[in-house]
Amino acid sequence: MSNLEQQCSPSLSSDCPDTARQPVSEIIDTRDAVLGEGLTIRRALPSRRRRMIGAWCFLDHAGPADVGEDPGIRVGPHPHIGLQTFTWPVTGELLHRDSLGYEQIIRPGQVNLMTAGRGISHSEESPTERSPEFHGAQLWIALPDAERHREPGFEHYPEQPQLNRDGFVITVVAGEALGELAPAQVYSPLVGMDLYTRGEAQTRLPLNPAFEYGALLLEGSVEIDGQPLNIGQLLYLGCGREQLTVRADQTARLLLLGGEPFGEEILMWWNFVGRSKQEMIRATRDWNEGDRFGQVQNYDGPRLTAPATPW
Ligand code: MN
Repeated sequence: MSNLEQQCSPSLSSDCPDTARQPVSEIIDTRDAVLGEGLTIRRALPSRRRRMIGAWCFLDHAGPADVGEDPGIRVGPHPHIGLQTFTWPVTGELLHRDSLGYEQIIRPGQVNLMTAGRGISHSEESPTERSPEFHGAQLWIALPDAERHREPGFEHYPEQPQLNRDGFVITVVAGEALGELAPAQVYSPLVGMDLYTRGEAQTRLPLNPAFEYGALLLEGSVEIDGQPLNIGQLLYLGCGREQLTVRADQTARLLLLGGEPFGEEILMWWNFVGRSKQEMIRATRDWNEGDRFGQVQNYDGPRLTAPATPW
């Protein structure tokens, strides 16, 4: 999905505290933002407290939202540079179209991974035939400098490795965990796991101590190493952990994200991830003038206009 805020502040990673090299347990409250026509989402990253977890640089928790009535979710064509968009629905469907000509419905359990590279544009909307509810996560992964100017691409991954562990169903959505390797092609060492339980469950997960980690709750509530975590909260865990205990009393769903500390300062503004103001200004001009980002075909509605840059 997208950053639709028209009052758009730049987010510079160097304005934030350095990566915690030791284990920490920091609750970061999400903030509400409006996505498309009336869909409110909870934005966990970027925040003033933390910009990134590894290369994960943008975390939205969308819904659960009632999309039974028209129009449902409608996010018109908009551009991206320097990132991958990672879409993980847990209820309902979305229809993706992009300037490379891909048109793909995504359903729960599936991953859409769009690599913006030097520039791509896309739209996302509720398909005509759909469930009455949409609920999911939309994440961005910053591309490292050596990859961020690459040609754009789009991949749909219909199945991810899944295993049962101590009452949780764990889906490895990105990277490698618990001996399972997710198919999604990413360009930094990182991991993403969806943990789901319908009842009481407790497990101890092995972690990579070289990674920093964070946990975003999507449903219910959990305790992570004894720290309660509720809806609307991201728990930042820092680096240096060998393991992590996750406990739930009832139905709960959690995204556990991790990665090697990114090691490059990034600048995020609107739907762009880059390194300099000049790049942001140029990408904004290119989009608003119809250059570079191609055309999204068959979306029935207007494209988004980039807001004025703050520089
Ligand atoms: Mn988008």
